[in-house]
Amino acid sequence: MPLYDYKCVKCEAAFEVTHRMSETPEISCPKCASKEVRKVLSTGGVVGSSKGGQSDAPPMPPCASGGCASGMCGL
Ligand SMILES: [Zn+2]
Repeated sequence: MPLYDYKCVKCEAAFEVTHRMSETPEISCPKCASKEVRKVLSTGGVVGSSKGGQSDAPPMPPCASGGCASGMCGL
C-alpha cells in the first residue's frame, strides 16, 4: 500500500498514513486530533521506474497529461 504524507492544517504537524489509492479515509492529526489535514505530494513517491520490465502501472508525468493540477511543476 502506498504511503502518503499528510500535514495538519491546525498545528502543522507532518505525519504519514498508509492507505489504498482508491480510498480516502477520514484522517485526523495524531498530535491535536484535528480532521483538517492536507495531503502533501512527495516528490519521491514514484516507484518502479528504475526496475525496468515491470509495467503494471503506466508512467504518468504530472505535466505531460495536459494540465498540472498538483502545482508541482511550477508552471
Ligand atoms: Zn494537528
